[in-house]
Amino acid sequence: EFISVANLAIALGLKIDVFVSQLEELGFEDVGKDNILTGETAALVAQEYGFEPKVDMGEDEDLRPAPVPEDPTSLPLRPPVVTIMGHVDHGKTTLLDYLRKSSIVSQEHGGITQHIGAFSVQLSSGQQITFLDTPGHAAFLSMRQRGANVTDMVILVVAADDSVMPQTLEALKHARAARVPFIVAINKIDRPEANINHVKSDLAKHGVELEDFGGDVQVVCVSGKTGQGMEDLEENILLLAEMLDIRADPGGMAEGWVLESTIKPIGRVATVLVKRGTLRPGDYVVAGRVQAKIRSLRNEAGVEIDEAGPGMPVEVLGWKEPPEAGDMVLQAPDEGRAKAAVRYRQELKERGDVIGQMEQIEKDRRERERERELEKEALKSIAEAANLRPNRRGGYRMSPEIKIQQVPFIVKGDVHGSVEAVSIALMEQGNNEIRAKVLVSAPGHITESDVELAATTGSAIINFNNPVPPQIKRLAQDAKVKILEHNVIYHLIEEVREQLAEALPMVV
Ligand code: GDP
Repeated sequence: EFISVANLAIALGLKIDVFVSQLEELGFEDVGKDNILTGETAALVAQEYGFEPKVDMGEDEDLRPAPVPEDPTSLPLRPPVVTIMGHVDHGKTTLLDYLRKSSIVSQEHGGITQHIGAFSVQLSSGQQITFLDTPGHAAFLSMRQRGANVTDMVILVVAADDSVMPQTLEALKHARAARVPFIVAINKIDRPEANINHVKSDLAKHGVELEDFGGDVQVVCVSGKTGQGMEDLEENILLLAEMLDIRADPGGMAEGWVLESTIKPIGRVATVLVKRGTLRPGDYVVAGRVQAKIRSLRNEAGVEIDEAGPGMPVEVLGWKEPPEAGDMVLQAPDEGRAKAAVRYRQELKERGDVIGQMEQIEKDRRERERERELEKEALKSIAEAANLRPNRRGGYRMSPEIKIQQVPFIVKGDVHGSVEAVSIALMEQGNNEIRAKVLVSAPGHITESDVELAATTGSAIINFNNPVPPQIKRLAQDAKVKILEHNVIYHLIEEVREQLAEALPMVV
C-alpha cells in the first residue's frame, strides 16, 4: 500500500505546503507533494496527527492468550498462587521459610530449596499451594503494573505484638485495589506481648470484615517460629481456593508469567509461573521479545522435571536472551511461529520508538516557539523602556531625539537555561541613556575566541556558574578583558549595574 504526500495531506485535512514543511520538521528529507510514502510510514505520520490507522502487521493469531472457555467448571482445579504481604519484621520471611521447609517435595530432595521466586508446597492430602517467595509489596506491584494478576490471594501478616502498622494498611490497599481476596495471619502468637484481640479490633477499625465479627475474611493465629497454627493456615488457603474455584486447562498452548530472570552457571534461567497449559522440554515459548526452545525444566529443589502444569513455578532453561520479569510467556506451536512472534513484537517496539522520536521533535519545536515568544516579549519591554518605536517589519527604531549608549557583554554559563536567564536579566538593565547589550550568549566554558571577540568589541565577559580555565584567565588579563564571574544572578546584576554606571557616571 502506498500513498502520495499530497493525498495524505488531503486525508489528514491539512494544506499541502504546511504538511510538507511539517514532514521536514519530522526529519523527512527532500519531500515534495508527489513523493510516495509506504503504508507503514503514512500510518506513523497519521498517528502523529492523532489518527489511529489500521495497519496489518501480520500478527500471529496463535500467539494470543487463549480466551476463557465457556464452561470453566469443566476444567480441573489448579493449585492456588499465594503472596505474603505485611509490615516489615512482622514475619513474612519466617513464614515463607517455614512453609518451604514443610514442603514434602523439598523433604524428598534433601530440603535444599533454592530461591527461584516461588515454590510449591505439597500437603499430605496431595493438594498443592504455590507461594510467591519475594516478600514485600514491590514484586506484587511490579507484576500488577504490567497487568498481571498472578496471585490468587494474599496472606496479610500482622504481628500480634505490634498490630496494624503503615505497611499493613498499604498491603491492604493494594490487595483491595487488585480485588485479590486475603486471609489475615496473626503471627508471633508465641510472644508474651502477643495481643490477638488488639490486632483484630485494629483491623476492624480499618474496615476489614473479619469472620469473628460476622464478615468473610478468615483469620488464622500462627507462629512462624514454633509452627503453631501453620497447618490451619494451609487449610484456610485451600478453603478459600475452593471458594474461588481456581481452575485451568492443562492442555493447549501453555501460558504463564516470568517471575524472575537470572544468569546462572548453567545459562539463562527464568522462573515461569504456568497459568494454563503444560510446559515440557523441547517446547517453544516467547516472552516479550525473546524466545526459548526449552532445554530443561527444574523445580525449586533444582531437580529436573518432565513437565510443569497450571499453578506450578518452574525454572526454564534455553533462552536466547534473558526475558524480563513480569513478561507474559506464550507457547508457540513451532520455531517458525516463535520467531515470527519475536519479529512482530520487535517491529511494534521500533514503531513505538519512532513515535517517541516524533513526539520529541514536536516537543522541541514547541520549546523553540516559546523561546522565540519570550525573546520577542523581552525585546518589546526593552524597546518600551528605551522609548523605541515599532517599525513596519516587527522590529524597532529609535526615536530620533534619543541616542542610547550600549555596553556590550558576552554571556557564557553552565547550561542553556542559566545563560538565557542571565541574558534576559541583562537586557532589562539600564535606562534610556545606557543599556546592557548581549553580543553573544552560549552555554559552555569561555573560549579563546570569546576573549578575542570581547577584546575587539570592548565587551566584558559574563561567566555564570562555570569554572574559568586558568589559561583563559591569563589570556583575558593580557587582553584587558574583564570577566565577571558569578553564580547568583542577583549579584551579577549588581555588578553589571556598576559597570553601566562606570560607563556613564550619571546613571545610578
Ligand atoms: P519480615 O520483615 O516480615 O520478613 O519479618 P521476618 O520474617 O524477617 O521476621 C522479623 C523478626 O521476627 C525475626 O527476628 C524473626 O525471627 C521474628 N519472628 C518472625 N516470626 C516470629 C514468630 O512467630 N514468633 C517470634 N517470636 N518471632 C518471630
